Amino acid sequence: MKVGVLALQGAFGLHERVLNRLGVAAVQVRTPQELAEVDRLVIPGGESTAISKLLDANGLADPLADRLADGLPVLGTCAGLILLAAEVVDGYPGQHCFGAVDVAVRRNGYGRQSESFSAPIEVEGWESDFPGVFIRAPVIESASPDVDVLAELDGAPVLCRQGSTVVSSFHPELAEDDRIHRWFVEQDWSTGHRWFTGHE
Ligand code: GLN
Repeated sequence: MKVGVLALQGAFGLHERVLNRLGVAAVQVRTPQELAEVDRLVIPGGESTAISKLLDANGLADPLADRLADGLPVLGTCAGLILLAAEVVDGYPGQHCFGAVDVAVRRNGYGRQSESFSAPIEVEGWESDFPGVFIRAPVIESASPDVDVLAELDGAPVLCRQGSTVVSSFHPELAEDDRIHRWFVEQDWSTGHRWFTGHE
């Protein structure tokens, strides 16, 4: 299995590090050819407007939309969540949102860079909290009933799954906790979506 990390801008290197720690050889994706060769994709945090423009500049927007429509398992964190959402509030005009997960997000909804924070995240079915790091994070303002909300913070979803799309508004690659990445890479997405602790 080949796991790609979209490496146009943002925290791609940290995701690669977590994946390598898990024994998964991660490959950087910058071209349509590289995208075509991966079985899973991580879209990192960073700046969604910049990543959106770079997707266009690198000819990746249409191939990515096609692969997502074909059910490519994808993990999107922070800016990655914004790119995968169905609707972006306070987005840059024309910024891509691929609609791989039926949520509406507000960019920078948790405040500015200086208002970054961490909070323990209680994930459904997990025995211990996940350390959530929020940096200019988007707020998920609404999620359709088709979206499996796996964790909330103050009543707003922060970790969700729909089909083989997993999104978080926080940065799991910054935590010394690889459970989200491990679940994403170990899950057999073709045969249903079992949470690795046993949650169906
Ligand atoms: N606010 C950023 C954006 O709009 C996301 C921040 C992040 O990924 N840490 O893309």
